[in-house]
Amino acid sequence: VKKRILLLAGGQSGEHEVSLRSARSVLRALPRDQFDVTPVVISPQGRWLPPGDTQRALETGEAQRGGDLVLHRAASAEGYDAVFPLLHGPMGEDGTIQGLLTLAGIPFVGSGVLGSAVSMDKVMTKQVLASAGIPQVAWRLAVRREWQDRPEEVCARAAELGYPLFVKPANLGSSVGISKVNHPGELERALDLAFSLDRRVILEAVAAHKPRELEVGILGNDAPIASPVGELRFDADFYDYETKYTEGRATMHIPAPLPADIAERVRTLALTAFRALDCAGLARVDFFYDEQTGDLLLNEVNTMPGFTTTSMYPKLFEAAGLSYSELVTRLVELALEKR
Ligand code: ATP
Ligand code: MG
Ligand code: MG
Ligand code: MG
Repeated sequence: VKKRILLLAGGQSGEHEVSLRSARSVLRALPRDQFDVTPVVISPQGRWLPPGDTQRALETGEAQRGGDLVLHRAASAEGYDAVFPLLHGPMGEDGTIQGLLTLAGIPFVGSGVLGSAVSMDKVMTKQVLASAGIPQVAWRLAVRREWQDRPEEVCARAAELGYPLFVKPANLGSSVGISKVNHPGELERALDLAFSLDRRVILEAVAAHKPRELEVGILGNDAPIASPVGELRFDADFYDYETKYTEGRATMHIPAPLPADIAERVRTLALTAFRALDCAGLARVDFFYDEQTGDLLLNEVNTMPGFTTTSMYPKLFEAAGLSYSELVTRLVELALEKR
């Protein structure tokens, strides 16, 4: 009997469009002889209902008795065997949807509440990974209220790190809201931008002048495996949104040309991070590597990485012998095994 899968896509974050691209690929790839797939797009405003149904629910209160409320159907154990929350960023990759699905008792692809929430927040991630002994850049936290009331303190924290530095919303992805700040004169604009998107902002020392960027895929629950290591190369100051999503601006190299011991260290650190953060199902773990010094620093963990057929995560497992459609099938199996 076919498994009924709810594929959630879009969502309320700055990565709505990226999620739709990922979902189109997954929708085509889930084998139809095994899965009955229902895609549901969540609008940027967070609406799960067509307008007519919402109106009816408001007027009659029928929503409490079922009807066509998508959220209710998703929350009904009879509705779906598993959910694939193919959402990136806040309200999707951050434990919120995962909490809803956990309450509803429906298995879902990927990390649970804890792993999703901690991995989404770059500050929490750094704290947990530091306690697991994983090398990372120096960093400082700032919250919006401090930037409003005591900006000089925030500027002093930046000065401690030195320039250039990176300013990022703590909970986002696809490089949305990230600035490379070359000197103090550029700091205010970078902080204003980051705080327009998040209450929490992280300031980071640069990993190196021009670090190599390595990424590795992790697949599994309590016995996860690591893919070969991939590398991204691009001609830009850093891997910003435009470089990420404009065709031809970046190239992927799989496996990354690296000494065997470095590649092995990347994979081991990624598995340690995956376990330390209590991730499940999948994650793409990103690193900076400085050839000159040999420094290898973990940048971040993405619990729902970009998932088009040309995205890094599926390409990494393709290099390991798992086709795109075998990979999405495996992810659904892992969701069903999780409990
Ligand atoms: P993703 O789309 O992978 O989720 P993200 O929005 O979470 O990305 P980061 O990966 O933290 O953002 O940063 C985006 C890019 O900015 C990196 O790939 C890298 O090019 C650059 N970058 C970020 N932090 C640093 C740093 N500390 N030192 C050097 N480069 C950095
Ligand atoms: Mg990220
Ligand atoms: Mg991301
Ligand atoms: Mg990244």
